[in-house]
Amino acid sequence: MDNTSGLAIWIELLPEPLLVLSGEGTLLALNSGAREFFATRQLTNGHGSQPLLGQSISAWVATPKEQLQKYLSLWRQATQMVPGSLMLRPTGDSPQKIEVEAVGIYFLESRPILVRVRKERQFLQRFIEQRAHFQKMQQQMAQQTALILELEQRKRLLEAENRQLQSLSQRDSLTQLANRRAFEVGLRRAWQEATSSGIPLAVVMLDIDHFKLYNDTYGHLAGDRALQRVAKAIKSQVRDADLVARYGGEEFVVLLRQTHHDVAICVLERIFKYIRGLKIPHATSPVQPYLTLSAGICIATASMTDCPMAALVASADAALYHAKHGGRDRYSIQAYPTAANDCPLPTHNPQSLD
Ligand code: GH3
Ligand code: MG
Ligand code: MG
Repeated sequence: MDNTSGLAIWIELLPEPLLVLSGEGTLLALNSGAREFFATRQLTNGHGSQPLLGQSISAWVATPKEQLQKYLSLWRQATQMVPGSLMLRPTGDSPQKIEVEAVGIYFLESRPILVRVRKERQFLQRFIEQRAHFQKMQQQMAQQTALILELEQRKRLLEAENRQLQSLSQRDSLTQLANRRAFEVGLRRAWQEATSSGIPLAVVMLDIDHFKLYNDTYGHLAGDRALQRVAKAIKSQVRDADLVARYGGEEFVVLLRQTHHDVAICVLERIFKYIRGLKIPHATSPVQPYLTLSAGICIATASMTDCPMAALVASADAALYHAKHGGRDRYSIQAYPTAANDCPLPTHNPQSLD
């Protein structure tokens, strides 16, 4: 054998993985770069985890023997680096390909072969794998983003539907006014407001006079249209902050927040005047030849108690009853809370337009 120990020292000085093989493929030397390289790949060669000195290359590579022979003969004669690839045998895994390049060491008589393992290929492979992994993650993220967007859109649709349903559940379908339920919510809120401000609130019940006769005379559809016109008329004469609701049948209720007695009367007279001005014909009414209303007002002074819903409505109702019995086409007022011997005040018949 030639001076391979000199070669061993020389390759040890270099950082890249290097091996020296005899012309027949026996391992003569390997540097620490190569030891480290093969150690991380956990080779199985039946004799340990690393290529062993004195052992044939065919003991630790899975490359077919003929192919190996071709390489050895080529490398032996090569005067510059000739590339090749070898298959390693990692434990429990499929063979692993490594790229190498080799050259014959011409100045030694036995023509050993210097083999350099090209780590860059591994690096490129890892880069390709990582890139594929990254692309997969990007795809997954894009799918998840699309899913989130879809869910958000569905949520917005559901919220819009919910709002619509809620608004429908608080509205009267014929007149588009608030319904009785919405009025009750509004009354509770107005009561709390009146409790803290100390300013009274007014609950006004309005009822169309002789509406049954109206239906009998003009038909139910005309009756519906008249209800719509009256609803619109009432709404047009109050502030936006005031609540107008259809209480039932041909009965409406108006909630005037922060309203003293005189202002409530003023608003009510305006409503009466406006509806009279519409002159919706009611030929069979014993009161006027056009549609009229009767109303009962409850001026309530709030206290720290829970909102006395029923008592407030009953008070406005009692005043309405009083107006009906006083001849209709008029209003009557009652205060809440009522003193022991209180009864609704005399009825008021607002001046007609003519
Ligand atoms: P009063 O002056 O005492 O209030 O007499 P009225 O006829 O108005 O009262 P009554 O309670 O006897 O009749 C109310 C009428 O209102 C009877 C009912 O058919 C009619 N009505 C209630 N709701 C509707 C509705 O949605 N559409 C129509 N067209 N009529 C309705
Ligand atoms: Mg009526
Ligand atoms: Mg009625």
